[in-house]
Amino acid sequence: MYTQIQLPYAFSALEPHIDALTMETHYTKHHAGYTKNLNDAAQKAGVGDREITELLSNLDSIEDEALRAAIRNNGGGFYNHNLYFGALSPDGGGQPDGAFRSVITNTFGDFDTFRDKITALAAGRFGSGWAWLSVDKDNKLILSSTPNQDNPLMQGDGTTPILGIDVWEHAYYLKYKNLRTEYLKALFNVISWQKVAENYDRVVRVGNINRKSA
Ligand code: MN
Repeated sequence: MYTQIQLPYAFSALEPHIDALTMETHYTKHHAGYTKNLNDAAQKAGVGDREITELLSNLDSIEDEALRAAIRNNGGGFYNHNLYFGALSPDGGGQPDGAFRSVITNTFGDFDTFRDKITALAAGRFGSGWAWLSVDKDNKLILSSTPNQDNPLMQGDGTTPILGIDVWEHAYYLKYKNLRTEYLKALFNVISWQKVAENYDRVVRVGNINRKSA
């Protein structure tokens, strides 16, 4: 059984950056829908006992084409939103500090360069999708974007996301209408770098259970 994360903050807690109605609709309708549909499809495919990271890293193992597509779309939607909501906080914003700040600056030069690059990927994603900060199998940070509810796990090469930026219109349209870049600017006020750093530490420490040897 796959379950949505419990939000450690109220739907209104990210105001004015992310409005309460968007948060409530996103979590109780969109994310809940992906989760229910994932559970239904995974049960039918007989894979409901797999870790979600294992499931998404090995979609080819699902023989039935329709169930594979349902698990890709809804399993992605389930996992991606757990990561997204889990990295937001009313106490977020600012910049990383400590060891993770060094990881960012060693990779991208400085935080502003990192922020501009991931923002450009998010703004430039045509249609619905995500921008990602991930850790690859060599523990290096990489940026990417994907369409729909795809994510870097689906590459199957051990790349594991630690921050996902949702650029589906449902993430911002009620407040920002077509102004995706305004949403992206606002989102940076509620990203918890402490949470992202914890994600990084966990991936580097225990790895994605599905990492394949290089
Ligand atoms: Mn979404």
